[in-house]
Amino acid sequence: MIERSYELPATADLVIVGGGIIGAATAFFASRAGLRAVVIERRPALGTLSTSAATGAFRAQFDNPDEMALVREGIAFYHRFADETDLPGYDLGLRAQGYLWCARAEATAARQREIVARQHAWGLTDVEVLSGDETRARFPYISRDVVQARWRAGDGWLDPKRLTAGYALASGARFVVETGVTGLERANGRVMGVRTTRGTIHAGAVVIAAGPFSDELARLAGVTLGISCVRRMRILLPEVPEAPSWAPMTIDEETGAHWRPWLGGAHCMWTQPHVPAGPPLDDVPCSDHFVFSVMDPRSPNSVAVLSPFWRDVWDRQSSQWTVRAGQYDYSPDHRPLIGATAVPGLLVNTGYSGHGIMCSAGGSRLLVDVLTGRTASAANAFRPDREFAHRELDVI
Ligand SMILES: Cc1cc2nc3c(=O)[nH]c(=O)nc-3n(C[C@H](O)[C@H](O)[C@H](O)COP(=O)(O)OP(=O)(O)OC[C@H]3O[C@@H](n4cnc5c(N)ncnc54)[C@H](O)[C@@H]3O)c2cc1C
Repeated sequence: MIERSYELPATADLVIVGGGIIGAATAFFASRAGLRAVVIERRPALGTLSTSAATGAFRAQFDNPDEMALVREGIAFYHRFADETDLPGYDLGLRAQGYLWCARAEATAARQREIVARQHAWGLTDVEVLSGDETRARFPYISRDVVQARWRAGDGWLDPKRLTAGYALASGARFVVETGVTGLERANGRVMGVRTTRGTIHAGAVVIAAGPFSDELARLAGVTLGISCVRRMRILLPEVPEAPSWAPMTIDEETGAHWRPWLGGAHCMWTQPHVPAGPPLDDVPCSDHFVFSVMDPRSPNSVAVLSPFWRDVWDRQSSQWTVRAGQYDYSPDHRPLIGATAVPGLLVNTGYSGHGIMCSAGGSRLLVDVLTGRTASAANAFRPDREFAHRELDVI
């Protein structure tokens, strides 16, 4: 059983603020390092904010070697999860059905060849470039408009709620729920614990893992993280007989519209460009207009552009759907913020910019290594005080 509690202990080695996937993963790696962690979560249950909005996909196909290494570490860990956590038979719902990024324009195809060449140079040698005809031979549901695809069979997805609960269960940490952190305890410039709606807890160190709310908490210590919160949505269709259950994550690299199988149906997503950032939200509203942009075949961002069977689904008019919304917590360069802040005793593990499920293991292992001194700050590519380079948004 996960140790869920409504009582605050007086002390801990480590207090983790936030019981999403990152807080739970941090608790797991902390306990593996011999630290007694307490996780404080404002909501009544774990993994119910951004984590429950995620589709749970993972991909090693990144545009930089640092994040690629973080995700590859995670993928290997998720495959061995039951052994690593000593939870025999624990099932993450992991499916390695691959990621297929499709190009319809020659310019995109050229960019694909260039990124795959770089990925090969970084040691990710199992990414293939497929011609349009090769793509359709392997994936017959793909449109004739596709001129090329990049493909990695080992990418896939898992269930984010099961992964969060697995970390929590294996950590042996105490999870104090329905308890909000309202302030930081400080002495001689050092953070020594947190004040909460149930009282104060003293600790050797505090880690902020509060997803979209992380900046708000860091500011209590005068630290600015520069996180922007942007609404993202996922459409869940439980029954779509036309959607092949063996299909990979299928991505239109021109628009960012993508889908993947789920139950007897699919998840459909689109990373809308130009969505304005807003304040962090506990209840993120959903939009029917978003659904029409992704599902109506007349929309340029429709999933039917790449996979024409979605046109039949739309024409049938009988598919049930529901929408789930959450916020991406974008850091200034869209890479996570992991490590010590300028205030002694205060660390952050946040800003995963839409990649927190896939990076949860690598990122939280790194955070604990920084905390325990196993990794020097200078060797940490994700330290929060780095120089932020400008980076365009990923299409997904
Ligand atoms: C539509 C959508 C699809 C996504 N798909 C993917 C995907 O396929 N793959 C992937 O890797 N990532 C995906 N993501 C991103 C992923 O969901 C996040 O990166 C990840 O869930 C972040 O986890 P977290 O623990 O940092 O934040 P959260 O899950 O938001 O958890 C933060 C927790 O902190 C708590 N908290 C905040 N303030 C306080 C306080 N003052 N006191 C106590 N508790 C507090 C909150 O209640 C919350 O439970 C997706 C996100 C969205 C929105």
